[in-house]
Amino acid sequence: MLQTDVLVIGCGIAGAIAALELAEKGFEVILIGSGTTEWESNSAVAQGGIIFRGQSDSAESLAQDIYKAGAGLSNPAAIDQLVRFGPRFVQELLIDKYKVAFDLQPDGSFCLTEEAAHACPRVVFCRDQTGHAIMQALFEAIRKSPRICFKTRHSAVDLITLSHHSKVMTDIYLPSTCVGAYVMDNVKQHVEIVFAKETILATGGLGEVFLHSTNPKEARGDGLAMAFRAGARVMNLEYIQFHPTALYVPSEKRFLISEVLRGEGAKLLSWDLKPFMDHYHSRGCLAPRDVVSRSIYQEMLKGDAHHLWLDISFKDSSYLKDRFPKIHSYCLSKGLDMTKEPLPIVPAAHYACGGVAVDEWGHTSIQRLRAIGEVSCTGLHGANRLASTSLLEGLVWAKNCADHLAKELPLRKDYFPLVEEWQMSEEIVDGALIQQDWMTIKQTMWNYVGLVRDKNRLCRALKMLEQLKWDIESFYAKARLTPELLGLRNGVQTALLITLGALRNRQSLGCHFRLN
Ligand SMILES: Cc1cc2nc3c(=O)[nH]c(=O)nc-3n(C[C@H](O)[C@H](O)[C@H](O)COP(=O)(O)OP(=O)(O)OC[C@H]3O[C@@H](n4cnc5c(N)ncnc54)[C@H](O)[C@@H]3O)c2cc1C
Repeated sequence: MLQTDVLVIGCGIAGAIAALELAEKGFEVILIGSGTTEWESNSAVAQGGIIFRGQSDSAESLAQDIYKAGAGLSNPAAIDQLVRFGPRFVQELLIDKYKVAFDLQPDGSFCLTEEAAHACPRVVFCRDQTGHAIMQALFEAIRKSPRICFKTRHSAVDLITLSHHSKVMTDIYLPSTCVGAYVMDNVKQHVEIVFAKETILATGGLGEVFLHSTNPKEARGDGLAMAFRAGARVMNLEYIQFHPTALYVPSEKRFLISEVLRGEGAKLLSWDLKPFMDHYHSRGCLAPRDVVSRSIYQEMLKGDAHHLWLDISFKDSSYLKDRFPKIHSYCLSKGLDMTKEPLPIVPAAHYACGGVAVDEWGHTSIQRLRAIGEVSCTGLHGANRLASTSLLEGLVWAKNCADHLAKELPLRKDYFPLVEEWQMSEEIVDGALIQQDWMTIKQTMWNYVGLVRDKNRLCRALKMLEQLKWDIESFYAKARLTPELLGLRNGVQTALLITLGALRNRQSLGCHFRLN
């Protein structure tokens, strides 16, 4: 059994910033990540950049862009928090404190790029590896911090709550409260109790429950599923943003091909290499992200194709290599040369606008449990996300959550109950079951709960996923716990929550598109 001031679950931008800011204020922090290395997060693979401020930019202009992109469903309080603190924290934390080396112009000012639906260029970046550069700086600081105990290959299994786990029977009458988590050492396959005065969920997204996803394999909604099981309020889960262009190489993980390529003139081509976007939208390849994603999906259905094409090979090759070094070298490693040939692409699940419902300081509906970053739903994104707002959202909520908590923790007297040790069952789970169940989840989500939804598809998905969840819970109860089994259990729960959200909401809005 371990005990700490704060347990931070997830080491992307949100978890890393929260851990650093709390440790700096004198609190002991345990920070865990489930990946084999610290690099397995959405934050580390973010390409495009993070919102800062443009030349003649204003908080009002950014607020308007977020509100428009969110199709009117964004939470005004969340927008206000982001535009008020966002650019300031990029300056004070990322640039001044952690020394992230954003790309500079020859005159020393920051290079700014204009992304789709932004009123002006206001996004700073580090070539096409912004996330990597930010996380490198944060991991360096974490390694130097004596108060952060940082462990990768450690997965939270379930949150420990008074009502579910306390051995004191009458604790069920106390307000719903989290006191830590059961955490698995993925290598030793041993589960330990970690008690914490406060637990912060920063487990990121859930794209991996879909067949095609730009996210790393840890993004299967672990935090969402754990919070839901603990009784937390979750919301807006039907709003899944799909990215139009992920590289399609069979049997390889999908790799994001930045929208900046289309901004630079890249053309989408049908299976038989013909332009088609003008049939779908007056802005052609520069139509809004969701229109482009759905158009590609429709063209794929029409041609019974596994993928379409994206062509930028007509541009100067040295320019392409310099502007997109990561994309260029990744494609080359898969035998594809973007300077000479069109790239095979598919749309892919990219970002979850919904999640665990939180306020401006990351409070969930459970006491002593906060959520920050992509796992949370601050309401900022409403029904759709404005490009490059999510790294900033993680930064702002992590910092404000840490500051708020630092004031509150010393004034509290936190109760830790006696709880059951983890009981490890012995039955070895059949790997084939896990693999097949994942295929069922991913195919079902892609075909029935994907880019284009209707009542029949969603009802079919619900029926299949409910049965699957029942089967998985049955063998989970008696099987020896592994990181794979833990992930499957969370994956099916996450898929069900998205499906229920999509079924209940009959109104097409933002990235939730229903035929009927
Ligand atoms: C390819 C790609 C490109 C993107 N580009 C941009 C961009 O240019 N600009 C932008 O603003 N946004 C971008 N995004 C979105 C953005 O990267 C994410 O929304 C953001 O990084 C999420 O940060 P986070 O800290 O909430 O989660 P993540 O960075 O995903 O971190 C989640 C962490 O939780 C850990 N974890 C998960 N489950 C468990 C568990 N059970 N136990 C312990 N740890 C667990 C993971 O190991 C990981 O460390 C992009 C996303 C992708 C996938």
